[in-house]
Amino acid sequence: MMNEPIMIDLHCHSNVSDGALSPTDVVKLAATNGCTMLALTDHDHTGGIAEAREEAMWRGIKLISGVEISVTWNGCTIHIVGLNFDEHDGSLQKLLAQIRAGRIERMRQMSDKLAKQGITGAFDGAMALAAANPEMVSRTHLAEFLLNEGHVRTKQQAFNKYLGEGKSAYVRHQWADLGEAVAAIRGAGGVAVIAHPMRYDLSATGRRRLIEAFKAAGGVAMEVHSGSSKPNDCLQYSLLAQRYDLQASCGSDFHRLHDYSGGILGRCPTLPAFCEPVWRHF
Ligand code: AMP
Ligand code: MN
Ligand code: MN
Ligand code: MN
Repeated sequence: MMNEPIMIDLHCHSNVSDGALSPTDVVKLAATNGCTMLALTDHDHTGGIAEAREEAMWRGIKLISGVEISVTWNGCTIHIVGLNFDEHDGSLQKLLAQIRAGRIERMRQMSDKLAKQGITGAFDGAMALAAANPEMVSRTHLAEFLLNEGHVRTKQQAFNKYLGEGKSAYVRHQWADLGEAVAAIRGAGGVAVIAHPMRYDLSATGRRRLIEAFKAAGGVAMEVHSGSSKPNDCLQYSLLAQRYDLQASCGSDFHRLHDYSGGILGRCPTLPAFCEPVWRHF
């Protein structure tokens, strides 16, 4: 059936990174929504996988190990999802720890920029919101602080006004190298996926170069649907994946209920029949 959703979600977050729910509660909600295969893909951290796997076992969900790695490529922040790897792999864990290391200092710098604009208490506020895992404090937490304190009316506005690239409280950050991230995922036995390609501010040429660099590094798949993608994106990105001989992945990018991205945790729209699903061999 064409428009029936598939009960697969290979991209979502828990409070181990910038999601609101514990790994257990993420799995519970996915199960409620009918999910049969789920990957928890916290930013730069695999600490929630064991808990999610335990809960998934009781719920009859196939839990795939996952992570969403922050990468700087050509000056742009790109997210690379790793799927179906050994989360105990030493080289992968070393890379993830390196990526996480600068987050608290970066939060201090962003908060200083906000203080200069008259917004005080941002550092303590964001750290309090990231209490479940302070080392993973992120712009999401800072946006939530700005919203809670009435400085903005929506989180989206926090990004548009203060936190987005080039905005008044933005701090440039050097994440992992693209080749390093893909190699670490592959070295741990997993597959590398370009996350939400529709979200990057790249020209058609830039997008092509990214895909070529990603493939040259050993990447094999691309998300053709993400919770934040628009209705026409899925076909467009499925065709792009086909043209570059990339497998197709999909995920809600769920962070919390009633969030800016409209994805329902645990399910995705049916992909075009010509797609080669990345999960076929999971
Ligand atoms: P960071 O890793 O600290 O740079 O934070 C990036 C996170 O901010 C992403 O993973 C998203 O969850 C969130 N984010 C990015 N852009 C937006 C946006 N425009 N609106 C709401 N959340 C966003
Ligand atoms: Mn996030
Ligand atoms: Mn992302
Ligand atoms: Mn994500």
